[in-house]
Amino acid sequence: MSAKVVDIGLEGRAKREFLMVDRPRFGPAGVPPTFRMLKAKLEDVPKLLREEGLDAFEYQAVRWGAKPQIKREEAEKLGLKASENDVWLSLHGSYFINFCGGKEVIEASKQRLIACATAAEWMKAHTVIFHPGFYGKAPRTEVFKNCLAALKEVVESLKALNIKHVKIGPETMGKPSQLGSLEEIVSLCEEVEQTQPVIDWAHLHARENGRFKTVDDFRSVIEAIEDRLGTEAVKNMHCHFTKVEFTEKGEKRHHVLEEEAYGPDFTMLAKVIVEFDLKPVIISESPILDLDAIKMRDILQKEKLKVKV
Ligand SMILES: [Zn+2]
Repeated sequence: MSAKVVDIGLEGRAKREFLMVDRPRFGPAGVPPTFRMLKAKLEDVPKLLREEGLDAFEYQAVRWGAKPQIKREEAEKLGLKASENDVWLSLHGSYFINFCGGKEVIEASKQRLIACATAAEWMKAHTVIFHPGFYGKAPRTEVFKNCLAALKEVVESLKALNIKHVKIGPETMGKPSQLGSLEEIVSLCEEVEQTQPVIDWAHLHARENGRFKTVDDFRSVIEAIEDRLGTEAVKNMHCHFTKVEFTEKGEKRHHVLEEEAYGPDFTMLAKVIVEFDLKPVIISESPILDLDAIKMRDILQKEKLKVKV
């Protein structure tokens, strides 16, 4: 995989290193249903994605507890096949992680995140994505502080375990009751080493009542990340994308790209990717996973050609 490590010393901020993504990459969140119908093994997934012209895959560890629920051998095999087929790997961490709860919940969550990072290291996955948690009744500033402290401790533990190549990626969340506004995610990443913001565009759209209406609305997110975390952070964004239905309580349901009644519109994001020459990893969380990943790849390609003409 042609990627290079860049170390950028942003003064007074968490030191960050990037394994540069070499181009925009697309892939599904989890094994596509058609692959399952073929009875494909996990190790076959990278090759099947490559045959579809896709080049990223987000392994779903969303039901895991305190220990990795994949054998080391199987994880390493997936990593090897991903590398052979030039597929960029990430791992979606457990839904049972909650850094916004009481002490015991936070301690258990730390173990769950470390278990995910351990398996990610076996796979040589680049990022472990996780949901920070629900606010509950405690004051928001206090909850944020606890979450930040827990995340710092997780990264310390990873260092002690010699897990150096996996980034921890807090994700923007789709409900106002969840910790995970763009501001909060960027703040976490600003403060903690070995982290990377995960921008779930559908979540931001749902959380903020249909935020993305124009190309400018997308541009403002890119600029906010660049301002706070630097150009390399924004160039190498890890993203989730799908169309989404929402209520005043936020995210309700994912929809396929083709459904015009729902946003956000990927074409607008594609324009911004071209404008800023970004190299994001874009994971499709659409109900038709890989098929919408292919569609997004093609939309971006079209936007690129428009600029060249
Ligand atoms: Zn997620």
